[in-house]
Amino acid sequence: MTILEEIEGVVGKKGLIIGDDVFNRKAGIWIDDGIKADAIIRPKDTKELSKVLSICNKFDQKVIPHGGLTGLAEGAITQKGQIAISSERMTSIEEVDEIGRTITVQAGVPLEKVQEEAEKYNLMLPVDLGARGSCTIGGNISTNAGGNMVIKYGMMRDSVLGLEAVLADGQIITSMNKMLKNNSGYDLKQLFIGTEGTLGFVTRAVLRLREKPTSINTVLLALDSFDEVIECLKYMDKGLGGNLSAYEVMWRNFYEVVTSSNSNHNPPLPLNYSYYVIVETLGADQDKDTALFEELLEVALDGGIIKDAVIPQSETERSKLWSIRDDVEQHYKDGPVKMFDVSMPISFMEKYVQEVNANFSAHWNEYKCVVFGHVGDGNLHIIGGVGSNEGEATELMEACIYEPLKSIKGAVSAEHGIGLEKKNYLEISRSETEISLMRNLKKALDPKNILNPGKIFD
Ligand SMILES: Cc1cc2nc3c(=O)[nH]c(=O)nc-3n(C[C@H](O)[C@H](O)[C@H](O)COP(=O)(O)OP(=O)(O)OC[C@H]3O[C@@H](n4cnc5c(N)ncnc54)[C@H](O)[C@@H]3O)c2cc1C
Repeated sequence: MTILEEIEGVVGKKGLIIGDDVFNRKAGIWIDDGIKADAIIRPKDTKELSKVLSICNKFDQKVIPHGGLTGLAEGAITQKGQIAISSERMTSIEEVDEIGRTITVQAGVPLEKVQEEAEKYNLMLPVDLGARGSCTIGGNISTNAGGNMVIKYGMMRDSVLGLEAVLADGQIITSMNKMLKNNSGYDLKQLFIGTEGTLGFVTRAVLRLREKPTSINTVLLALDSFDEVIECLKYMDKGLGGNLSAYEVMWRNFYEVVTSSNSNHNPPLPLNYSYYVIVETLGADQDKDTALFEELLEVALDGGIIKDAVIPQSETERSKLWSIRDDVEQHYKDGPVKMFDVSMPISFMEKYVQEVNANFSAHWNEYKCVVFGHVGDGNLHIIGGVGSNEGEATELMEACIYEPLKSIKGAVSAEHGIGLEKKNYLEISRSETEISLMRNLKKALDPKNILNPGKIFD
């Protein structure tokens, strides 16, 4: 029997996609090409996946885990000769535990479905990102996704209490812990969080839910200097007593393009400031929280920390503000660009951005270097454009952005992962001994190197 015949015996015709149907599926949300692989396998549960992986292991067949394919680090890219395994049929929400405040789901459930389910119980999964409708819980766990509320609730890792994963040889590791505290030996779930499908295929998870906040306050601020950006972050965080949930900064060049006459957004604040910041709080008492929020803003305006502010007066106005921050695609309109995701201690940010700009201008007369990000989390996104998005131009752009991270001990990936895209730069952020331990873990768990091979490191 061929490998695909054996696999079909496990998953049936419904669970197997072959021939042109493979390439007819897009390789990623922002990738125009189709999927290049010999087959896409769609197991319906952990048991089926376990059997599929033990067959693949027997045949030394390379396999690539697929979630919603919204990843931004080429972690789910396949080649001819490889097989993709998709979680798209593992979409059941198994349980909501209102008392323990947990939700148990299969890995293929889209993030947004989990958010909606939690809301029915007045609870919240505190992980949110622009790709919420398409990305999956398995993908969020495997990339340790970040998003817009990290400053208050942490990254995906902080919302995973337990999980189940299948190892390369088909062994099932069920570690569906529901408690906040469990120090009984190694915390094995961490092996599968943020490891981009290289150590195991996540099949199910127990996620921690929080009480749904009943108050929300948002403001768009204008500031003149990066020192004020830092001062304002500390001031608001201190004054808000734990309620600060977002501190999203747009450099002027980001704000200018997104609110230009070619877009659908009107600038809520004039264009003459250096930085624009969306500050948001989540709490439990709207009247009290709003009074405190507005008082803090008034004092900051009087004291000159902030130069201008606009508070949305309705949910529609609030989502308009956020849509400015989220409309990254405006920067993709004229010419090829590439998005970067890096992190560093906040105190180094201004100097880092200056250095990146200096690097760009040393190589190109005309270039785009648009900056925005989750500054409260130390995370910047940079959109670089130099007229070409390939070969040498990309490598040079990468050097301009990654090299300055060395001296400040920054990270080449803040929240998107390493995948194929950044593996050449991993050693900027991780020592030789760290990478060697990563390799040893990989060898121990996947000695035949069949699971997502070549991602993160060779
Ligand atoms: C518009 C937009 C906005 C975004 N905003 C953010 C943001 O704010 N923060 C952020 O962190 N990311 C963001 N992303 C990136 C992306 O949505 C996340 O990385 C997301 O977690 C990927 O989930 P996915 O299901 O699409 O995974 P995929 O893209 O399918 O896979 C990503 C990686 O995980 C592996 N994988 C997938 N499923 C499994 C599984 N079940 N078991 C083991 N490995 C698996 C894949 O092999 C691959 O290495 C954004 C993307 C877009 C398009």
